[in-house]
Amino acid sequence: MKNYYDILGVAKTATEEEIKSAFRKLAHKLHPDKKGGDEKKFKEVSEAYSVLSDKKKRAEYDTYGKTFAGGGGPSAGGGSSFGGQGGFGGFDFSNFSAGGGPSFGGQQFEFDLGDIFGDVFGGGQARTRRGRDISIDIELAFRESIFGAERRVLLTKTSQCDTCAGSGAKKGSKLITCSNCNGKGEIRESRNSFFGTFTSARPCSRCHGKGQIPETVCEACRGESVRKREEEIHIVVPSGVEDGEMIRMPGRGEAAPGATPGDLYVKLHVKSDAKFSREGNNLVTSLPIKLSDALLGGEYRVQTLDGDEMFTVEPGIAHGEVIRVRGKGVPHGRARGDLLVRVDIEFPKKLSRHARELIEKLRQEGL
Ligand SMILES: [Zn+2]
Ligand SMILES: [Zn+2]
Repeated sequence: MKNYYDILGVAKTATEEEIKSAFRKLAHKLHPDKKGGDEKKFKEVSEAYSVLSDKKKRAEYDTYGKTFAGGGGPSAGGGSSFGGQGGFGGFDFSNFSAGGGPSFGGQQFEFDLGDIFGDVFGGGQARTRRGRDISIDIELAFRESIFGAERRVLLTKTSQCDTCAGSGAKKGSKLITCSNCNGKGEIRESRNSFFGTFTSARPCSRCHGKGQIPETVCEACRGESVRKREEEIHIVVPSGVEDGEMIRMPGRGEAAPGATPGDLYVKLHVKSDAKFSREGNNLVTSLPIKLSDALLGGEYRVQTLDGDEMFTVEPGIAHGEVIRVRGKGVPHGRARGDLLVRVDIEFPKKLSRHARELIEKLRQEGL
């Protein structure tokens, strides 16, 4: 009787991960398509793995030394029953991408071969073709970052052909069946391997998967439907963006024939402002006021991003005090943050003789 644990070189107490990892290593080493591979041993480890990787079968095997589960799992003992009828061949790749196990000679093994051999067979599934992503940088004035902005940028990139609007056909030309793929849009390739015939499909490079080609091609793009050209991109920057933020414009990256275009990423650089800074959704500015106004009160014209506003300074205001002007901050959704005005009392560095005399009087007043 075969010892599946010995075949995989793991302990009876091995975890699922350990079993999988041991099989992966062995399967890669022994794979018959590889140099130095060993078909007989490969069958053995596959059989061991198909049992030990299945909780139910493993429990049966541990208890009875064989498995009873349906689905064609190999029975242990009684000699080699593996692929007994007709041997190998007929490896069914339709189960491969569906996540089912491979079948050998009609026997279905319940493990995901793609999981183990993903790198050998290139993943088994056709990659989604897509144009390249591109990124650009734009600079915004502080004000634009608060209220939003628009930019028109000229980019030289592979774009949809503007002469034929991406059809690849000359104006008035009709479409004919692609002779390269006979209108199927894909080219099937068969490769003989240990598992039997492995068929893969890739999009036809002539018609780019469409199955049809124009009878007379567009001269501007030579029928490719895309070409390198200058394209004007209209960028709408929303309000309330921050320095370093990225705007993603789906489909505005590079185009590729027969594929989804890539995305355009716009990185925003916000210039700092001499008067305003940002704290979350609030704007912060400072208001220099005279010492006498701080004591007696006064009227000030305050700059906001929405225009100047008259502002009353109450008598006795303190240096550094913050006055909140509601709704003049950063727009967010339908609301807006506030403008925080920080009072900056200007203490005179030098006093005229007259001013000095007056302040001496204030001192005598006890101020
Ligand atoms: Zn064209
Ligand atoms: Zn074709």
